[in-house]
Amino acid sequence: RTPRPAADLGADPHPPFDVRLVRRDFPILAERVNGHQLVWFDNAATTQKPHAVLDRLAHFYRHENSNIHRAAHELAARSTDAYEGARKTVARFVGAESEKNIVFVRGATEAINLVAKSWGKANVRRGDEIIVSHLEHHANIVPWQQLCAETGAKIRVIPVDDSGQLLLGELSRLLNEKTKLVSVTQVSNALGTVTPVDSVVELAHRAGACVLIDGAQSVPHVRVNMQTLGPDFFVFSGHKIYGPTGIGVLYGRTEVLESMPPWEGGGNMIADVTFEKTVFQHPPNRFEAGTGNIADAVGLGAALDYVTRIGLDTIARYEHQLLEYATPRMLAVPGLRLIGTARDKASVLSFVLDGYRTEEVGAALNQKGIAVRSGHHCAQPILRRFGLEATVRPSIAFYNTTGEIDRMVAVLHELAADRG
Ligand code: PLP
Repeated sequence: RTPRPAADLGADPHPPFDVRLVRRDFPILAERVNGHQLVWFDNAATTQKPHAVLDRLAHFYRHENSNIHRAAHELAARSTDAYEGARKTVARFVGAESEKNIVFVRGATEAINLVAKSWGKANVRRGDEIIVSHLEHHANIVPWQQLCAETGAKIRVIPVDDSGQLLLGELSRLLNEKTKLVSVTQVSNALGTVTPVDSVVELAHRAGACVLIDGAQSVPHVRVNMQTLGPDFFVFSGHKIYGPTGIGVLYGRTEVLESMPPWEGGGNMIADVTFEKTVFQHPPNRFEAGTGNIADAVGLGAALDYVTRIGLDTIARYEHQLLEYATPRMLAVPGLRLIGTARDKASVLSFVLDGYRTEEVGAALNQKGIAVRSGHHCAQPILRRFGLEATVRPSIAFYNTTGEIDRMVAVLHELAADRG
């Protein structure tokens, strides 16, 4: 047989994906809950951690632990290299211009608060407008409300259609010379809707407004690139992409970050201090006052390397198959209503079941070892748009299987049958 030329091998559009192998990377998936093997369908709340991350954290504390930047000893050099190496990994992962565009924060919530408190206070005045969408997580609503309360600016809301997709035409109608910022999620944590962020960025920029994209739910499922997308800000949390809790990322465009004042003061973020005056560092250090979450930043770097090794396109393709598998099977459960039926969705299958409160469904699934979230998912406005206070929300990741979906659907059928 003639071997395939190397070029052909490299061009294989569907690299093999073996979920059994992937599952071995996540030790917690072997856990037993109520006598059953754990099914983790609460990935939109937080994801489980692979050996690659657990081992990297242990290695850091065993061999590299030190504060960064300040000391002239070997471990300070190791930890600084590890921390700054993680910043470079994040920059590569999101296609940023440089690692200088990457600010480490505690998570998406802190990143949005940083922008509201620094950029917002410097740029938003009475009568200005900030546009968010009806889909937003409270983390992308409350900081803007607080800023508006302080400045006299106003929030405007892009509505969604009955499938839970943004009405882009309404964004065009809302944009005007008073609009300072458009801040929109790329994937809804409550419905799974993937929003057309390319168009959002383009429309907002054409109107002269800045754009923040909340990538908390998108980066684990959708490949992103800051240079092609072109937002002014992009935020995400490490723990939702197989990394540790307490670490997250604010990406900022160079000119925007350079123009922003610090939001917190202290060590690390200064070039020079006297009692009369302080000269601040350039970004990103200007926004990282005090000792940061060094080990978890390094752990996040390991998580992104791990995801990159598997390949986001491979992950997205497999997760899409799981969604396609689950959707008709869930809809076949009598009395089950899926909330959020946009054509473009990622990970999330929000639903309500006739005759049951959402927490009853969550408890019944937990009895069988299946972890889902039930509640308002910190996104009350969008649930109320659909006349609800809560949904049950399974959310999948690439370590989930069709067998796990079958187990969940079987419990839902039992509940529907018990309803009588
Ligand atoms: N934005 C979205 C869309 C989210 O789903 C979440 C968390 O669920 C957040 C922001 C806030 O993330 P964190 O709590 O990690 O700061």
